[in-house]
Amino acid sequence: MANYSIHAGHNANVPGAQGYIREEVIDRQIKDATIKYLRAAGQTVYDDTDEQGKTQNENLSSIVRKINAHSGLALAVSIHLNAGGGAGIEVYQYDSKTDTVAARVLNKIYAVTRLRNRGQKKNQSLYVLRHSKPPAILIECGFVDTKTDAEIVTAKTDVIGKAIAEGILGKDINKENQSSQPSKSASVKPVPSRTPLNRSDILFKKSDKGFAVRTLQQDLIKAGYSVGKSGADGVFGPATENAVRVLQKDYKLLVDGIVGVETRAALSKALEKKKKQPKPPDSAIAPYPETLIKRGSSGKGVERIQRVLSIHVDGIFGAKTEAAVKAYQKRHNLTADGIVGPQTWISMFKKS
Ligand SMILES: [Zn+2]
Repeated sequence: MANYSIHAGHNANVPGAQGYIREEVIDRQIKDATIKYLRAAGQTVYDDTDEQGKTQNENLSSIVRKINAHSGLALAVSIHLNAGGGAGIEVYQYDSKTDTVAARVLNKIYAVTRLRNRGQKKNQSLYVLRHSKPPAILIECGFVDTKTDAEIVTAKTDVIGKAIAEGILGKDINKENQSSQPSKSASVKPVPSRTPLNRSDILFKKSDKGFAVRTLQQDLIKAGYSVGKSGADGVFGPATENAVRVLQKDYKLLVDGIVGVETRAALSKALEKKKKQPKPPDSAIAPYPETLIKRGSSGKGVERIQRVLSIHVDGIFGAKTEAAVKAYQKRHNLTADGIVGPQTWISMFKKS
């Protein structure tokens, strides 16, 4: 058994980062969970969070004073959330003495959140790390101003706290309020993709409401999964559930219509894919007719070409049309053969 000091950064007087969530609120929830699980595992834990400091300096020096007042601490842990529009989790260390524990904590948090692992970072200018007598680490548990991070972290403060506790101890904690027995059946694993979710792993389910549901719906729509006529209305109704099911099917997940970390990650992947993929030309323009349009052709396609070329529209591809097509092709650096193939067609009808 060992002694630990845990604190959450900032306080109500000197708030931390703000975005979709408030750092000093969520970091306290994670801190409380971390302490709960460490104590459940029989450790001595001091909560050195400062609620009194009126300035950032007072807040930081008060935390360090509290940490350094204890003797025989194995580790001091500072819990924060990031801001600035990035994504993911990272752990700051003063030096390489904390390499092992920092790596364990990062991996544990990653396993339960799948937030981007930004890695371990050495930093000798962070006040708490520099002035704490015991070895210390500072954990950034995701970005408050990045939607996905904020949603996942908010939904999983308890799970993240447990992951941090397990990372600190280097072993799994079996149950809340129960001494830990190192066990092979690790309770913290990435949510397996084809087994039903535990309640604590559910981010969104049917009948949920609110802004986070709306952002989920907006992402579903952007990724090409319709959430029904009412659009992103902030209500997780049957159509949203159906969209989630289709997404789950596409990504070979358990199809239950419930959004957990794996499904959220699949949605992020789908969004990425959509972003990378340029719009296929034929979705922007009229589909290219099956056959080449050339001298002798007639019909609707020819009429459209003539309209684009600003020549007489009669739907018959004659000499004048051919000449106009050649001129058009020359102007657009296409092979000037007077035949409208797919390239010329796309060039003529693409939306500018
Ligand atoms: Zn902070």
